[in-house]
Amino acid sequence: MHTQRNYDLQRRGDPMGIALIWSLVVMLVRWMFSKRRGAISYDSSDQTALYIRMLGACVIFKQLFSRDVRVRSQVGFEPERRGSHPYLCVDFRTLHSRSENARPVPGRRVHRLFSFQRHLHSSRRLHSATTWPYNPLHILDEDYLGQAKCMLAKVGSWNFDIFLFDRLTNGNSLVTLTFHLLNQYGLIELFQLDMVKLRQFIVMVQEDYHSQNPYHNAVHAADVTQAMYCYLKEPKLAKSLTSCDILLGLLAAATHDLDHPGVNQPFLIKTNHYLAALYRNTSVLENHHWRSAVGLLRETGLFSHLPAEDGLNMERQLGSLILATDISRQNEYLSKFRRHLDQDDLCLGNASHRHFILQMALKCADICNPCRPWELSKQWSEKVTEEFFQQGNIEKRHKLEVSLLCDSQSNTVGDIQIGFMTYVVEPLFSEWARFSDTRLSQTMLGHLGLNKASWSGLRASGSLEEPEPEPDPDPPPPPAPGLAQEPQPQKIPPPEP
Ligand SMILES: [Zn+2]
Repeated sequence: MHTQRNYDLQRRGDPMGIALIWSLVVMLVRWMFSKRRGAISYDSSDQTALYIRMLGACVIFKQLFSRDVRVRSQVGFEPERRGSHPYLCVDFRTLHSRSENARPVPGRRVHRLFSFQRHLHSSRRLHSATTWPYNPLHILDEDYLGQAKCMLAKVGSWNFDIFLFDRLTNGNSLVTLTFHLLNQYGLIELFQLDMVKLRQFIVMVQEDYHSQNPYHNAVHAADVTQAMYCYLKEPKLAKSLTSCDILLGLLAAATHDLDHPGVNQPFLIKTNHYLAALYRNTSVLENHHWRSAVGLLRETGLFSHLPAEDGLNMERQLGSLILATDISRQNEYLSKFRRHLDQDDLCLGNASHRHFILQMALKCADICNPCRPWELSKQWSEKVTEEFFQQGNIEKRHKLEVSLLCDSQSNTVGDIQIGFMTYVVEPLFSEWARFSDTRLSQTMLGHLGLNKASWSGLRASGSLEEPEPEPDPDPPPPPAPGLAQEPQPQKIPPPEP
């Protein structure tokens, strides 16, 4: 849908790029000399978190307009602030080195790995800003354009292959998918979102995911967003959710693991990471994901045209959704869900009930890997296990206690998956199917059962080699065995006896 405004934006070409860069400069300068310094209040954890988040913008500014990027300390704080924060004991440069022979991490990247702050891919950012497409498919190579568009035509399919889509979009699956869904729902026009700001926001979200993470990267975020879309389309939700609910649901899915470091909360706590101290060892990662998302919302001014109270309310609700993905609070949410279903008292005309269902939908989307067709599920299982073992290797290297499920010597992909499916995924999706008794729910449970059986079969045969691939039709009950899932391994009960 091309509005006159979009047309105007596109026509402006270079002047728009210049204006955009200039507005970026103005925005950054304004932060540096007003808001940012004014926001440094250690009386408020919110402001402190946002301050830390926004420090990334200072770095960007310096990288854009100065060759000197050494002014930042290795942990990313301004020198005068360093004493205010505990720092990391472990060298995070080891986090993403695949092997001892891996190439040394480039200097520019070290800053980000230490600080979790945004590393600006300036050339890509500027390029994307000046060639702003109101349709993100604009950035694709011609050869892939048609295929990616074809895939988007079936974006509501549970068999949607996000790995293929990511390749077809040249690694821009999260940007392309999120924009497509917002546009498809008409949310851009409805909320009068500025196209340039929206583009900036989504691109920055994608870039703030760590592509070095085997699992917690932008493709996982895109996968969760696609799953969320499937749930939003379910009849019970579709007929009761408001446009605001849908906007929040999609944004929460896209940002729910923003700036994930590839290690879990216990790791951050035992290494005295500043984020653990900042969030008092509670939902450390989820709080960081949320504050990171809020930082980007404010940085781009995506909601700046809304009344201040509405903007703050959106930020709060976004936080409530993202915080619900803390797997250590799984039983709390599941018990509440079960209680509502037992009492049959969920009323989706009630805003708080709708919000709760959105929380449950996001939780399902976040750990739905074992409910996907085997070929997709298996890939996710291998990726998450790789990330676990990577953490375990770092722990061993630094003589730290190896976290549960992170020791490659005593765990296998199959064992981890079977335990995860049995104790975490099945209970959640069984209740979801009670709430939303649809073909999709039955399909997901079908895949889950088959995937679990496949991992069990592989374990029994003593081989975790390639299992027999099975066909995977879409809606109808699932075919093969599969796997995958999410973070916080220490919360996952042991595998089946
Ligand atoms: Zn996640």
